[in-house]
Amino acid sequence: MNNNFDVIIIGGGPGGYVCAIRCAQLGLKTACIESRDTLGGTCLNVGCIPSKSLLNSSEMYHKAQKEFHKIGIETENIKLNLSKMMNNKNKSVLTLTKGVEFLFKKNKITHLKGIGAISGKNIVTVRDHSGKDSTYNTKNIVISTGSIPTSLPGIKIDEKNIVSSTGALSFDKVPAELVVIGGGYIGLELSSVWKRLGANVTVVEYLDNILPGVDKDISDEFLKILTKQGIKFKLGSKVTDISNTKNRPTINFTKIESEEKGKIECDKVLIAVGRKPNIGKDIIDLGIKLDKRDQIQVNKKFETSIKNVFAIGDVIDKGPMLAHKAEDEGIAVAEIIAGQAGHVNYDVIPAVIYTSPEIAMVGKTENDLKKENVKYKVGKFPFLANSRAKVNNEAEGFVKIIAEASTDKVLGVSIISAVAGTMIAELALAMEFGASSEDIARTCHAHPTHSEAIKEAAMAVDKRPIHF
Ligand SMILES: Cc1cc2nc3c(=O)[nH]c(=O)nc-3n(C[C@H](O)[C@H](O)[C@H](O)COP(=O)(O)OP(=O)(O)OC[C@H]3O[C@@H](n4cnc5c(N)ncnc54)[C@H](O)[C@@H]3O)c2cc1C
Repeated sequence: MNNNFDVIIIGGGPGGYVCAIRCAQLGLKTACIESRDTLGGTCLNVGCIPSKSLLNSSEMYHKAQKEFHKIGIETENIKLNLSKMMNNKNKSVLTLTKGVEFLFKKNKITHLKGIGAISGKNIVTVRDHSGKDSTYNTKNIVISTGSIPTSLPGIKIDEKNIVSSTGALSFDKVPAELVVIGGGYIGLELSSVWKRLGANVTVVEYLDNILPGVDKDISDEFLKILTKQGIKFKLGSKVTDISNTKNRPTINFTKIESEEKGKIECDKVLIAVGRKPNIGKDIIDLGIKLDKRDQIQVNKKFETSIKNVFAIGDVIDKGPMLAHKAEDEGIAVAEIIAGQAGHVNYDVIPAVIYTSPEIAMVGKTENDLKKENVKYKVGKFPFLANSRAKVNNEAEGFVKIIAEASTDKVLGVSIISAVAGTMIAELALAMEFGASSEDIARTCHAHPTHSEAIKEAAMAVDKRPIHF
């Protein structure tokens, strides 16, 4: 093999593999190194894809058990076959990771299997699974090594009883008692999965509310909905330690305000307190500049502090740790390397939580705007007044649009709805085009669709919704 490349990408997740494909499309001789057996990174192997498979299957199980009878579908003896559900998830993961492998072949990208490290100026070394090192020369290097789960001080994840999201995506039986530490999106998605499949779930969260960073109206409403679904919450509670005796973890915590102590015994505990950038020793040794959270510092062109070394995705100091953000950065950096004008608009990165109902948001929250001293107007429309949501018996939630007071430009949108994740794309597009709430209000939306609630919320910004 010719060992000279235009670009070598370290990490084959959504940032890295998309970057590789775009580089190849632009005529660059490209290699992508991945240490896992399969491509697709956290997202395809142990993140977005397996979690969404289990969310979908568990929701169907829950509906068949608890809701079908309400609309005249009588079912008997609905049984869970967890190993089949897991096989279905594994099959989806395999199909999609194989799909990326196919795209690499189609685009003539060299897939280097092993652990990659920058070993000198424009040199990358790959250690394969047998321990053999091979060296490659490259004009450009893109670091896209992603992120890994974090834990709490003194608490060791064993992926048996004390698990990260990876372990919680592969339990071989439904835990009777599951404690989830952390009320962020990963914790709440996995709480939903196991609650629907029959576990008693308690979420322990340090803050006074769930989903930090999400619009307060949304997180308050969502807390009520999840509580109604039977998930228990211990908010404002600091986990002090977890003992793991007789194969059953006990979580000790202290109520932050009252200093009252509590404990919960359970079968499994999921630590979902966040993820940290995956920084290899080579990055430290080279002295590539990191921020105080150990994320790689990059400029607008994704250049690190070292010439011709770029970085993208979860490992960098820009934007949220989300797959589509990593993908967009992969495209942008490929175009920059090829001499084009790649760009990512960090003001318009949608985020979705795939629970039931779903939560989706893009742009600023009221809280952000208060901090920035920006004057704004709010339009809200509940799904209770949306005909499609009503006939589908999914009338929980609302659309909330925030527009700048003087210009009416849409600055942020949050949605709770059964199909919020699909609906948010319209708003991201509107914001990319600098739309005002009036532009959305005057756009014809098909009837009956959940999306009519977007038009109504836009009209509500000007206090003139029709159906509410
Ligand atoms: C449970 C869970 C659910 C999630 N759900 C969603 C979701 O619904 N939507 C969403 O947008 N995001 C979701 N995410 C986040 C998403 O997975 C990440 O934001 C995304 O994968 C980041 O992409 P990346 O390419 O930066 O890194 P990664 O996907 O982490 O990929 C990095 C890859 O680099 C490889 N690697 C690391 N170091 C080396 C090395 N030295 N040599 C070779 N290879 C190396 C790793 O093996 C890995 O495969 C979820 C995450 C989790 C854990």
